[in-house]
Amino acid sequence: MKEKKFEFNYTVYQNIDELPPEQKELLEEAREITQHAYAPYSRFQVGAIAKLANGETVKGSNQENASFPVGLCAERVLLATVSSLFPKIPILTIAISYKSEEQKSDHPISPCGICRQALQEYEGRNKQPLQLILGRMEGAVYVIDSASKLLPLAFTSDELR
Ligand SMILES: [Zn+2]
Repeated sequence: MKEKKFEFNYTVYQNIDELPPEQKELLEEAREITQHAYAPYSRFQVGAIAKLANGETVKGSNQENASFPVGLCAERVLLATVSSLFPKIPILTIAISYKSEEQKSDHPISPCGICRQALQEYEGRNKQPLQLILGRMEGAVYVIDSASKLLPLAFTSDELR
């Protein structure tokens, strides 16, 4: 028997102004994109933006549906859009923010389990780390240098070979 441990480092910034300029700009855009969310049911509006290796940026927001399971998170809307528009271009960074009409939150957003699975797949396709900037409309920001760190022991394409 052997016990193993999983841990990872991430950076916590007190607020958006502490971020390097390029990351700050991305998070500001992610905040703006929350306005494009279609979230009449949860009133939890999420905005995400990807910076690609070719310099392009692509935006995504959550899209809900009266049939709740049909709804899509901003992260997966974004990933599908990137893959459709720029299928061969790696994603360098994704910034995500949210705005909730129902409650104040004192911590940055964190991708749901399904989106973590999707993010690690894209990072695998990228063959390079996909950085995440996790924020909200104000306050602290988390920066994680590789999205796969959010999903230890992930099910990957390696299992299907
Ligand atoms: Zn999600």
